[in-house]
Amino acid sequence: MSVVGIDLGFQSCYVAVARAGGIETIANEYSDRSTPSCISFGPKNRSIGAAAKSQVISNAKNTVQSFKRFHGRAFSDPFVQAEKASLAYELVQLPTGSTGIKAMYMEEERNFTIEQVTGMLLTKLKETAENALKKPVVDCVVSVPCFYTDAERRSVMDATQIAGLNCLRLINETTAVALAYGIYKQDLPALEEKPRNVVFVDMGHSAYQVSVCAFNKGKLKVLATAFDTTLGGRKFDEMLVEYFCEEFGKKYKLDIKSKIRALLRLYQECEKLKKLMSANASDLPMNIECFMNDIDVSGTMNRGKFLEMCDGLLARVEPPLRSVLEQAKLKKEDIYAVEIVGGATRIPAVKEKISKFFGKEVSTTLNADEAVARGCALQCAILSPAFKVREFSITDLIPYPISLRWNSPAEEGLSDCEVFPKNHAAPFSKVLTFYRKEPFTLEAYYSSPKELPYPDPAIAHFLVQKVTPQTDGSSSKVKVKVRVNIHGIFSVSSASLVEVHKSDENEEPMETDQHAKEEEKMQVDQEEQQKTEEQQQVQPENKAELEEMETSQGDSKDKKVDQPPQAKKAKVKTTTVDLPIENQLVWQIGKDMLNLFIENEGKMIMQDKLEKERNDAKNAVEEYVYEMRDKLCSIYEKFVSEDDRNSFTLKLEDTENWLYEDGEDQPKQIYIDKLTELKTLGQPIQARFQESEERPKAFEELGKQIQQYMKTVHAFKAKDEQYDHLDEADVAKVEKSANEAMEWMNNKLNLQNKRSLTLDPVVKAKDIQAKTKELTSICNPIVTKPKPKVELPKEEQKAPEPNGPAEGQGDAESAAQAAGQGAAATPDKKLPEMDID
Ligand code: ATP
Ligand code: MG
Repeated sequence: MSVVGIDLGFQSCYVAVARAGGIETIANEYSDRSTPSCISFGPKNRSIGAAAKSQVISNAKNTVQSFKRFHGRAFSDPFVQAEKASLAYELVQLPTGSTGIKAMYMEEERNFTIEQVTGMLLTKLKETAENALKKPVVDCVVSVPCFYTDAERRSVMDATQIAGLNCLRLINETTAVALAYGIYKQDLPALEEKPRNVVFVDMGHSAYQVSVCAFNKGKLKVLATAFDTTLGGRKFDEMLVEYFCEEFGKKYKLDIKSKIRALLRLYQECEKLKKLMSANASDLPMNIECFMNDIDVSGTMNRGKFLEMCDGLLARVEPPLRSVLEQAKLKKEDIYAVEIVGGATRIPAVKEKISKFFGKEVSTTLNADEAVARGCALQCAILSPAFKVREFSITDLIPYPISLRWNSPAEEGLSDCEVFPKNHAAPFSKVLTFYRKEPFTLEAYYSSPKELPYPDPAIAHFLVQKVTPQTDGSSSKVKVKVRVNIHGIFSVSSASLVEVHKSDENEEPMETDQHAKEEEKMQVDQEEQQKTEEQQQVQPENKAELEEMETSQGDSKDKKVDQPPQAKKAKVKTTTVDLPIENQLVWQIGKDMLNLFIENEGKMIMQDKLEKERNDAKNAVEEYVYEMRDKLCSIYEKFVSEDDRNSFTLKLEDTENWLYEDGEDQPKQIYIDKLTELKTLGQPIQARFQESEERPKAFEELGKQIQQYMKTVHAFKAKDEQYDHLDEADVAKVEKSANEAMEWMNNKLNLQNKRSLTLDPVVKAKDIQAKTKELTSICNPIVTKPKPKVELPKEEQKAPEPNGPAEGQGDAESAAQAAGQGAAATPDKKLPEMDID
């Protein structure tokens, strides 16, 4: 089970994983921890991440970036329409009305949904995680802005499915940051103490988000969030772009906005300049060579001037800060720390605005770029059984009030009810009771459209089906469970019909009018609440409990209706029947469509893989050409005749030319064949060189062995005491073998010395090694034959130690044995326990 966190950023993404050692932000194939949110479509494949980013200008029309905020939005959405103008690629209206992206892919014009595009990006991030973890990745936690509506969240969820991921939670970016902050804190106030309030500020490339969280030991509760959904680093870039468009326009008579490539270059340069200004207050140059119409442009900028230009943007920093305090009913003094993350908080003026508002220095204890991803990975570790993580409960909130609307036969019109007020804890479930005779529809919507950064307040329609009247024709009691789930998505998750079976015929139903009654809060604590939710589905006792809670909170009229007089209670039996619910969600991709996208993503992954293999095969030919050409004039020179060298060099040159011409774009097999053809020429040369490197070493080893055996023979002959136990015939055998080997070696050495290096050697290193082995196998058993032990007179013989080894060798043996036992006794490796400190 994988434990992976993904920060799906507007400009760049980060991936963090949990390993036995803790949470780690991982690097991609370019050794970069950040992967640009960018996809480039080509005639043969897609490039994703850094490879795509490098094509932003060269393949401008087919390179897609800045798409994060199109999730769950109609093409006609004013936000989409406003963005459209500044994009190098084309946006289109898809048949469903949602926003699509048009690109040339595989030499065909294709329309992709935003879910597909984000799916592609996620495919890349999944691969990055898989490469780091060396195992398949499925389970993960992905971050989304805290202000995302249901449609946006559902759209990101679909994207995770297209990439073959199982998203355990869509977590709000600021909440992920809060988790990354809180879980490591050892000194949080105890549960009964006043919580520690911390403000988290994240200003990224596209948006500005603020949250205030209350921390106690082992738990965090998000108290309030506020945001400016369009204030981010790119707005500051835009200011510079506007300035230089005008400045260069006047100075060089250029209409920069008419040339998308020039405009894109200017954006890149302005972003660099903006970052430089964060570290330098002095005048900085802005030079771009060959900018447009072969003109080099140059200008200057400094922090002071930049600040003036960004006055309007900087004025937007404070309101969300003020808003979270107001919502949470906290004063500035109640705030323990203000933690800032996100690239744009590096702008000194932004930082100053924040610290000035709170009257204290901002804290930068978290990694500004990686905190979101790390928080996601921590959340994934908490949700995954594969890791043991310190208990930490997270209660998030619902950022916009959610209401339900329905047609009320009693009131002959629409009724509505706010089911979740703003900042209500999430995830959370509630049960509503309706009295109906027939199927009915519940329309969920955001009831405060003014504060919604999204044009359509509708969430979904839920049709509660198969509702029938009671057997006596009166209305049935229908219980409807509504919930905001772990991803922050609202749904009518279940509905059931309560059938009342009465044994007393005289008992009349007292209910005559149909109405909905406000339900009951289940539990505020998120963890407890989740448990209740789970149990509720399986344990009927809990249903009874819920009903009880509900009636105890209802108004008196309802109570009268729901609770028949005590005396008759025993005669009323109820059963519940689950009712099917049909959902009509705003901008939800249909199941069939989603499956098609999953299938298509698989095909595109395969195509990318094939293209990569083809390119690798081509690169292998190119590399071989360069390597051989280089070595033929250096280390291989002696090992090839002049004629062969000339013809081989020619062949290599031809191949190089071919690679740039006809061979530029060939199927993989052609490259493989080409390489094989070259290798038939190169291999023998390479082998001769290799042999000449290994041969002297092999001869030396053989010589050493011969010498050693001859030495033993001489010592034996000289009646050396050390060898007087050896058999004479055996020693003669050693002498004979050593002599034969010597003769063989001298013969081969002579022949080889006379032979040209351009020809295959007379003897190969492996033959020499075989000869050495043969000699050793004959001689070694003879010369290493142990000397028989001398029997000591009895009284001098020492008694052996009780359990000690008799000889030195025994020591090593028993030690090895002990080690073996030790290893066997080691318990099986436990599941990794994460060290989160
Ligand atoms: P979002 O959070 O909106 O989805 P993101 O997560 O991709 O976007 P970040 O990576 O947090 O965004 O921040 C990127 C922004 O931060 C860019 O606008 C970048 O120019 C800006 N940025 C990064 N470093 C600096 C710096 N030193 N000075 C000023 N701005 C910077
Ligand atoms: Mg971000």
